[in-house]
Amino acid sequence: MIDLKSNEVWFATGSQHLYGDETLRQVAEDSKKIVQGLNASDKIPLNIVYKPSLTTPDAIASLCTEANSAPNCIGLITWMHTFSPAKMWIAGLKSLNKPFVHLHTQFNREIPWSKIDMDFMNLNQTAHGGREFGYIGSRMRLNRKVIVGYFEDEEVQEQLAIWMRAASAWQDSRKAKIARFGDNMREVAVTEGDKVGAQIQMGYSVYGYGVGDLVAKVKSVSDSEADKLVNSYKNDYQITRDVASDNARMASLKEAARIELGMRHFLEDGDFQAFTTTFEDLHGLSQLPGLAVQRLMADGYGFGAEGDWKTAALVRAMKVMASGLPGGTSFMEDYTYHLEKGRMRVLGAHMLEVCPSIADTKPSLEIHPLSIGGKSDPARLVFNVKEGQGINASIMEMGNRLRIVANPCEIVAPDAPLPNLPVARVVWVPEPNLQIAAAAWILAGGAHHTGFSQAINSQYLEDFAEMAGLEYLLIDKNTNISRFKQELRWNDVYYHISNGLGI
Ligand code: MN
Repeated sequence: MIDLKSNEVWFATGSQHLYGDETLRQVAEDSKKIVQGLNASDKIPLNIVYKPSLTTPDAIASLCTEANSAPNCIGLITWMHTFSPAKMWIAGLKSLNKPFVHLHTQFNREIPWSKIDMDFMNLNQTAHGGREFGYIGSRMRLNRKVIVGYFEDEEVQEQLAIWMRAASAWQDSRKAKIARFGDNMREVAVTEGDKVGAQIQMGYSVYGYGVGDLVAKVKSVSDSEADKLVNSYKNDYQITRDVASDNARMASLKEAARIELGMRHFLEDGDFQAFTTTFEDLHGLSQLPGLAVQRLMADGYGFGAEGDWKTAALVRAMKVMASGLPGGTSFMEDYTYHLEKGRMRVLGAHMLEVCPSIADTKPSLEIHPLSIGGKSDPARLVFNVKEGQGINASIMEMGNRLRIVANPCEIVAPDAPLPNLPVARVVWVPEPNLQIAAAAWILAGGAHHTGFSQAINSQYLEDFAEMAGLEYLLIDKNTNISRFKQELRWNDVYYHISNGLGI
């Protein structure tokens, strides 16, 4: 359900008329070659569309207006081959409502030392043309990314690709619909929030439904449809013997299949991109949707448990950014700690709802009691997660703004097999270590719910936060608690002032 292929980014080259036709012809030719070069790179995930060089305020304004209304255009790459007096950009940038990246590159990698003359100097002015353009962006307080380097270099293309993926998630967020089955888990604070404020800022819309609406869909699932799905489970997962050999448990699995189909129909019919459930609010459902949620997440839906619509939207955004990359992305929760001195780590899991996109092997399909919520034993996929790099990110509302906290981690193997733990789980060591990471996270008000990914890193989240105007806090190997506390206080002042009357 996530397809980045139809998204495109427009390549806008800034210049001016003073250089004469000959130079402008060369500028156009060079820009086309850069676009071709980038499009030919397997690092670049989206199509880049060349646009004619911009030499007047009107041309810049009309390109920005066109970009605003083009549904497939998710943003602009701007490049100043020559000097482009930046007053020309004010009207355009003022109206532009899509993100832009400033690519500070040159057509030539090296200075042709022995041949360089004033014609060459006239044509290759990005070193100062980019600064003039940068000034107006800063003067107008515009959030954007600046990428410096030769356009054929791997690092430059990687940064561009990350920005494109973040812009794809931002485009998705602005029109996303989130379904909430039931309300918030009662008394929980961090999952609450201002849905109207979030819609004004993030674009996505949150719709609440009584569980009865979902139950009606579940009831309308035919027997044969449910049987067919149970059969496909047999192929996709290792069904434990105690389930496969027990009629009552197989009936329970069929009920889980029915719930999955009902949810899937509901979400497809309403064109939703993310959803939430609440174990306290399951009237008419025989079991907490575990397997259903896991499989829907694996198909690209964002998810938040206990009514957590903000995390559902975050998981969806992370899944859009990660689309097509190796490694999975899931809803997650810091569940329990291993506090052995020098080897402190976190065991992350949830009651059931961890996405099998992060599974290291074929998941095991099991049915166990939930010991909370008083419903029938729910079906769930159980698995471990492959070692390597990962990241946790959390979004919370601070009263006058939304804040994202990101914390890279190293995923490690459990110290021993976990035969008695009937949920999917992942063990990680956060950067720089658990003491500093957890202290900083808690001081920042970071939620217990997170989006977890093996596919993306903090740069994706930072780019996304810039586009969305979110406060972004990074906890990583450079984090120092004293400085982090200062950052929190300074940010409070900044957002108090910059938000004005707020949203
Ligand atoms: Mn939870």
